[in-house]
Amino acid sequence: MGQKYLTKSLFKIGLECPRKLYYHEHPELYQNQALGDPFLEALAEGGFQVGALAKIYHPEGIDLSELYPKDAVNKTKELLNKTNVTIFEAAFCFENLLIRTDILVKNGNVINVFEVKSKSYDSRKDNFIDKRTKSYILSDWTRYIGDIAYQTYVCKNAYPNFEFIPFLTLINKNAITTVDGLNQKFLLKRAGKKGKIIIKPNTDINSVGDKILIDINMLDGINLILSDEYYNPKNSNWWDILTFNNKINELAFGLLNDNKLKPRLDAKCKKCEFRCEAVSPLASGFNECWSKKIALQDISEPFVFDVWCIKSNKSDPLLQSGKILMRDLTEDDFELEIKKERGLSHQQRQWLQVERASKNSEKYIDQENLALIFKSWQFPLHFIDFETATVAIPFNKGMRPYEQIAFQFSHHRVNENGIIEHIGQYINAEPGVFPNFEFVRALKIQLELDSGTIFRYSNHENTVLCQIIKQLENSTETDKEILISWIKTITKKDKEWFGKRSMVDLCDLVINCYYHPLMRGSNSLKFVLPAILQDSKFLQNKYQTSIYGRPEGIKSLNYTDWSWIKLDKNESVIDPYKLLPKLFNDIDLDKLDRLFEGDDIRSGGAAMTAYAKMQFTEMTEIERKELCSVLLKYCELDTFAMVLLYEYFLNEISLTHS
Ligand code: SF4
Repeated sequence: MGQKYLTKSLFKIGLECPRKLYYHEHPELYQNQALGDPFLEALAEGGFQVGALAKIYHPEGIDLSELYPKDAVNKTKELLNKTNVTIFEAAFCFENLLIRTDILVKNGNVINVFEVKSKSYDSRKDNFIDKRTKSYILSDWTRYIGDIAYQTYVCKNAYPNFEFIPFLTLINKNAITTVDGLNQKFLLKRAGKKGKIIIKPNTDINSVGDKILIDINMLDGINLILSDEYYNPKNSNWWDILTFNNKINELAFGLLNDNKLKPRLDAKCKKCEFRCEAVSPLASGFNECWSKKIALQDISEPFVFDVWCIKSNKSDPLLQSGKILMRDLTEDDFELEIKKERGLSHQQRQWLQVERASKNSEKYIDQENLALIFKSWQFPLHFIDFETATVAIPFNKGMRPYEQIAFQFSHHRVNENGIIEHIGQYINAEPGVFPNFEFVRALKIQLELDSGTIFRYSNHENTVLCQIIKQLENSTETDKEILISWIKTITKKDKEWFGKRSMVDLCDLVINCYYHPLMRGSNSLKFVLPAILQDSKFLQNKYQTSIYGRPEGIKSLNYTDWSWIKLDKNESVIDPYKLLPKLFNDIDLDKLDRLFEGDDIRSGGAAMTAYAKMQFTEMTEIERKELCSVLLKYCELDTFAMVLLYEYFLNEISLTHS
C-alpha cells in the first residue's frame, strides 16, 4: 500500500479545513500545536475505555486490529463471505479511501457498522437533525456524523451489494451501572507513543453488568448528509456548502496529488493547530493561509475572531466584509448603548479589548467599583480551587456515566492583618476510589471555622458542589443531610437557593472591572496572572525574594523558600506556571489544554489527564506519589494566583489592611 490513503483520522482533519490536510502531512515543513501524543490523548479523552467496553458486548467479535491495513482489507473480504460474522477493526478500501470500522455485525446481506464515541447521549434531549426543518445536522453533531458518514460512503462503494446501516455507539446518560469497579477493568499502557488497552482478567459480558452504552441508528442522518441536496442554512463558508461527496473527492484528490487545498479562512482559524509562530525551519500554516488576505507583517496582530466571546455568526460576516484585524473594527460594530448598572457590559468589554489591542496600550481598571466591592467582603478571606474530572465509565454500582469527580482542592487564607497562608489542600487519586464525599468533608472542615468570604475563579466550583449535592442525595452516606445543608450555604442555584456565604467569583470582577492588553482578550487566570505580575512593581518587589514557603513569610504546604518573580532575558516576568516541574515529560501543558476545547476560563486539562493516568494506567506507588506532589504544587499556585490578583487590586485601589 505505497500510495497515500485518506484514512478516517485524515478525513476528520480535512473535514475541519481542507488546507490542514497538507500541513498535517508535512510535519517537516509546518509547526503543529496539536499534542501529537496518542497515549495522552486517549487518557485525556477517555475514549479507549468506551471502545473496549463496546467490544465486550460483542463476545463473538473477531479482532483484526493487529493486522496491517492491506492484510486487514483482505481478511475482511474473506470474513464477509460468511453469512453472519462480527468483526472488530474491519478494513474497507475504495480507490484511495481507507477506513477501519470499530465494530461490524453482518447478518446475511445487512451489515451494521458501529462507530464508538466517548460522547454522552440523552435520548430525551439530544437531537442530531434540526427538529423544525428536519433538513440539516445540528452543528454539535457534525463531526461525529461526518466520521460515520465517511465510513458508510467507503463501505457502500467497496461492497455495493451489501446494505450498510450506520450506528453511533454512545454513552447512555440515563444508564445506571449495576457493578462496582467497572472503570478499573480497562487500563491503558504506553506502547511507544500510542496506548495499548489492557483488559483485566475475567472481564466478560457477564461481569460488566447492565449495558451503559447505546446504539443509535444513524441511517436517516447519514442519508441526509450524503444526498447531493444536503444544505445547512447556517453554513456560509465555501467549504461548508460543498456536498459531502464533493468534500470526500476534494480531500482524496488533494492527498493523492499532494496539493495544497484552498483554506477556509473564517472564525474556525482561531483555534487552528497550525496557528503558531514560524520557528525555523518550520513555517506557520496560519500565516501562509492568511497572507493571501493581509500583509504578512500584520498577521501577528489580533484578529477579529480574537475579540473576547465573539460568536462566529458575528465574526464571519465581519471577515467577509473585509474586516480581518481587530484594528479594522469601529464602535459601530458593537452595541455600546446597552449598559449595565455597574461594571462593563459584554459589548463594552469587547470594545475595550479592541481599543486596547496594541501591546503598548494602557490597562483599564475601575477602581471605584472595585473599592465598593472590596468593602463588602468579610475577613478572613478564603481562596479555593478544585481539580475535577469526568470519567466516562462509572466507578461504582448505582452511578451514571460522566459523573463529576472532584479529586483535589487547594485553599489559601488571607487574614485581616494581611497574613497569607496556604492553609489547606486535599487530593485523592487512589485507583477505583470515588473521592467526592471525602472531598466535601475535608472542604467543610476547613471552611466552617469562620464566616469569611470565599472566592473561586469561574463558576466551576459552584457547579461541582451542586453536582455533589445530587450525588449525595442518591447516596447512602449517613451524614448526607449535614453535607448538603452546608454546601447550600456556600453555593447558589438558579431560583432554588442562594447561600448566605455564596462564593464570590473573582473572574466576574475581572470581566466587570479590569482589562490589561497582555491578557490578549482572555480572562483565564493563566493569562491574567502574567499580565498583573508584569504590570505591578508592588507584586514584583514583594515576591522577588523567596518569602514563599517560609515560616516567617508565607506558609506553604508544598513550596520552600520560593520566589515567584523570575525575569527572562528581556526583563519580562516569567509566567509562574512555567517555573513549575513538568506534569508530563516534554509535553507543553497548553497543548494538553487544547484538547478541552471551548473553555476560556478554566485550564485544568493537564490535571484531568494526570488524574486519568493515576486511575487507568499501571503506576508504581512512587510514580503516583511524585505525580500527586506536582499536582499539589499546581493547584497551590492556582489559589495563590487568586491571592496575587486580590493583592494586586488592593494595591491598585490604594486600600491598606487594618
Ligand atoms: S488557519 Fe484556517 S484556513 Fe489555515 S489551515 Fe487553519 S483552519 Fe485552515
